Amino acid sequence: MASPLQPREDTLALLSDLVAFDTVSARSNRALIDFAAARLAEAGIAAQVLPSPDGAKASLWATIGPKVDGGIVLSGHSDVVPVDGQDWTSDPFRVELRDGRAFGRGVADMKGFIACVLAAAPRFAQAPLRRPVHVALTYDEEVGCVGAPKLLAWLAEQAPRPAIAFIGEPTSMRVVNAHKGILVARTQICGVEAHSSLAHLGVSAIGIAARAITLLQTIEQELAAERQDRRFEPSRATLSINRIAGGTAVNILAGRASFDWDVRSIPGVDGRAVLARFEERLETKIMAPLRAAFPTVEAHTAVVADAPALAPEEDGHAETLAKRLLSTKETRAVAYAAEAGQFQGAGLSTVIVGPGSIDQAHKADEYVDLEQLGLCDQFLDRLAGALVSGG
Ligand SMILES: [Zn+2]
Repeated sequence: MASPLQPREDTLALLSDLVAFDTVSARSNRALIDFAAARLAEAGIAAQVLPSPDGAKASLWATIGPKVDGGIVLSGHSDVVPVDGQDWTSDPFRVELRDGRAFGRGVADMKGFIACVLAAAPRFAQAPLRRPVHVALTYDEEVGCVGAPKLLAWLAEQAPRPAIAFIGEPTSMRVVNAHKGILVARTQICGVEAHSSLAHLGVSAIGIAARAITLLQTIEQELAAERQDRRFEPSRATLSINRIAGGTAVNILAGRASFDWDVRSIPGVDGRAVLARFEERLETKIMAPLRAAFPTVEAHTAVVADAPALAPEEDGHAETLAKRLLSTKETRAVAYAAEAGQFQGAGLSTVIVGPGSIDQAHKADEYVDLEQLGLCDQFLDRLAGALVSGG
């Protein structure tokens, strides 16, 4: 039996470098971005660093090869989830190699992929590519895919135009052509405070919130009846209320209440349309009748995050190329949300393909099998070969 494919030495060294940057979403990723830009510069590749609106974070964009349309984007998010409260065997921000695996925060999600891409960049730069490779690094993916839309808005103004995006989220190097979307919303309710012995003088914001939540649950049932997609588990769009707050005392009708909820949509269900359905009914069925007696009651819903689903493309270029490079005919769907739907929405043919398993992401002792990194190195080498031969 052949021994498992090993990653390149420079890939492993880069993984150690990347994991050592504590890029938990709440913190700045600038040091990692500057590091990546410097590594690309060493290979003669000019990277653009695109600061976030407040300057605390940044995206990176670099083009390798000819400045022509039709290039391939290799995209990864630079942020990671926190390690608070997790029981790690080793320091999460120091890569440890044990049992054919690399352990560390983000090795699967998704610094392993970024390490492979940065290690491959000098090889791309030396190859006579006929179409360019673009390196994209984003921020704030783990808090609702908030960073990628800014990069994509900038990209829309640039030339040349890339054609394909490979998003390197962990798929065990399988081709994923569908993921669920996520819309995160916060609904805030203003009622009218009154002593609970004089309940007729007020209206509880918590009571209104309860009715609004029941409305959301009704809409969830409607969505399930309207559309199912058996590729996903669960196969329907879900609508969950995940946090609630309100009230000030046991004997006062609550003046304020708020709740956070999310829509996990399947392709064909638009989170914004679900929100519009909710707001329309909340107004007509609940708020407008209440306002007749209590003119100051209010309900307001803010969108905290919005990332659309990734839908399978008919004869998609990204899917065709990824399958060819991996010698497979198989595709999969994943339940988690990712930036791929945003890239697809920006007009790029998009699939997810990356090393490691989502089962290990976000957990204590997150790991990636070294063989997975080796397979990703090989995938990128084959991509370079395809771009040289014009494929
Ligand atoms: Zn991720």
